Amino acid sequence: MTATRVLVLNSGSSSLKYQLLDMRDSSRLATGIVERIGERTSRLRHTALTTGETRETSGPVADHAAALKAVAEELGRDGLGMDSPELAAIGHRVVHGGSSFTEPEIVDDAVLAEIERLVPLAPLHNPANLTGIRTARSLRPDLPQVAVFDTAFHTTMPESAARYAIDVSTADEYRIRRYGFHGTSHAYVSRETAKLLGRAPEDVNVIVLHLGNGASASAVRGGRCVDTSMGLTPLEGLVMGTRSGDVDPAVIFHLTRVGGMSTDEIDTLLNKKSGLIGLCGDNDMREIRSRVDEGDEQARLAFDIYIHRLKKYIGAYYAVLGRVDAIAFTAGVGENAAAVREAAVAGLEGLGLAVDAGLNAARGDGARIVSPEGARVTVAVVPTDEELEIATQTYALVGASHDLT
Ligand code: AMP
Repeated sequence: MTATRVLVLNSGSSSLKYQLLDMRDSSRLATGIVERIGERTSRLRHTALTTGETRETSGPVADHAAALKAVAEELGRDGLGMDSPELAAIGHRVVHGGSSFTEPEIVDDAVLAEIERLVPLAPLHNPANLTGIRTARSLRPDLPQVAVFDTAFHTTMPESAARYAIDVSTADEYRIRRYGFHGTSHAYVSRETAKLLGRAPEDVNVIVLHLGNGASASAVRGGRCVDTSMGLTPLEGLVMGTRSGDVDPAVIFHLTRVGGMSTDEIDTLLNKKSGLIGLCGDNDMREIRSRVDEGDEQARLAFDIYIHRLKKYIGAYYAVLGRVDAIAFTAGVGENAAAVREAAVAGLEGLGLAVDAGLNAARGDGARIVSPEGARVTVAVVPTDEELEIATQTYALVGASHDLT
């Protein structure tokens, strides 16, 4: 029997998201999430897409090992169990791959040790990702486990974009450089954008705007990332749901010296209490837009700051690329908020950028063009699919190392 299924696992600090895909046609067989792992009442929500049935269970789930066992049981009830010979591999999202991992890797002890070594760079995410991998390995020791890194797509950035202008020996000692994140999304969306244009990725320059609760922009030249807005951590760059994005680093010294705040307090302030929520109390763009429509000044200012930053990055990446074929909007805000797309390119006609009001307002499922016909730069909405990208990379790697047929 040919093994064509890939299980994708995304382990957070207290959650485990999963999708089971059949790589013959990239279809979803099952999807779900275990939330509040380690708390008194955890919740598992499982959907079998083969039958359309959704089941929810709640009760204590002590740790990621227990969570994955519960997921395996749910999959088993639908005849999609983790012991199936049709399962080819498990693909894991790993947030930080540092400079070491430029491609997905089949997990072995050396790969695990390197992910562990990178924990200081992603103290919340990498330990959770490691737990997910170790748990999956103990359940199916015979099965290839593949680590797919959020940072890998950005490792093609030239040193001029990846380095901060700080003392080189200090930067090297502490591995301080711009790594970038959301890499699987930027990779997938830039390729899908080329497809939408009917051209090969190697021939196309794209600015990808991944605007979700976390947000990042990237400049992609001929399929390779040449700059991205997130840096050492996901805090740099665009205004996000709860993160500030770019600030003068001296804000931190000021808050320490004058405000008497601790490092942890400032970390929480900039990562959790800033961005849209810090500016107006809401981080959901739907809520902010309806407040703007009602004349709420605070929401208006938050929206304007969000758009101003976005526009600056579009201009910067236009300059970095020199020639831009397309701008792709993706993720929750990018795919759904027509007002954000319209405002982001307003006034940029001189750069060949505009949206067609009708096309931009129309809703649609797949990738679609929203710029006027004949526009110099195509503006597109390109839905992201990080799970499919992880599954595709996993399957390609496993298929290349084992003859699955
Ligand atoms: P993501 O992180 O990609 O799941 O995006 C989540 C964010 O997308 C939410 O916080 C909302 O701000 C935004 N979002 C989702 N749906 C819509 C919508 N219909 N209109 C505007 N924003 C939306």
